[in-house]
Amino acid sequence: MSETIQAPFARPDGRAIDQLRPITFQTGIAPHALGSVLVGFGDTRVICAASIDNRVPSWMRAQKVEGGWMTAEYSMLPYSTLDRKQRDISRGKADGRTIEIQRLIGRSMRAVFDLKKLTGKTIWIDCDVLQADGGTRTASITGAYVAAQIAVQKLIAQEALAENPFTDSVAAISVGVYQDTPVLDLNYLEDKDARVDANLVMTGSGKYVETQSSGEEATFTRDELNSLLELGAKGITEITQLQQAAIQQGLAD
Ligand code: UDP
Repeated sequence: MSETIQAPFARPDGRAIDQLRPITFQTGIAPHALGSVLVGFGDTRVICAASIDNRVPSWMRAQKVEGGWMTAEYSMLPYSTLDRKQRDISRGKADGRTIEIQRLIGRSMRAVFDLKKLTGKTIWIDCDVLQADGGTRTASITGAYVAAQIAVQKLIAQEALAENPFTDSVAAISVGVYQDTPVLDLNYLEDKDARVDANLVMTGSGKYVETQSSGEEATFTRDELNSLLELGAKGITEITQLQQAAIQQGLAD
């Protein structure tokens, strides 16, 4: 374990400022999907499942684009939040946050994937939040990669795919400025009071896919941003190792 930095204040769950919540992966949670995992970042839990469709979207067929496609859907189960959240289907439409998150998950996956190698197939990644306690989008991306990598390796074993289209791994983590201090992996109590909230999507080789950082009715300094990036990179390194172990577990299930 690397050294941890104690906060000058107590984090709500007692963690050091550079300490992740316990990260867990339970693979094979949805046996009808080719790859699936229940990912936990502390009390945040998301079911991520990868299913294969043996066709590509109509726009790809129309434009004669070679290869395959990978896309994602995200939703929060009604009982995932403290107050019941109405299903989108009952409201008649997905809210803006949902659309933003599922597009982020899809982009994050495609950034480390060579679509040309997925001939004629679509990988659907479904991320359903079972319990929300902050960081559901980052947990979703982290679990989506595990589910999709398991699915891809199973396709190869079934001789339904010639080679692995993944070019790198991908994971995500939230960081933020809470009580004037940059901290890693915010839970809901921290997230709601954070002055700065950021989500980092990074590859296993340390490159960025997306960095989103915003001040909540506040501003932040270059030094704070640098600290957030450093904390995030440390978190991603730890998560990447756990993802690799989870993929091996998923392939052995
Ligand atoms: N949240 C909620 N209901 C909602 C949206 C969010 O209870 O409709 C809570 C939930 O705990 C979530 C947190 O607020 O994890 C932070 O939400 P945000 O939009 O920042 O996304 P996240 O951090 O989950 O990616």
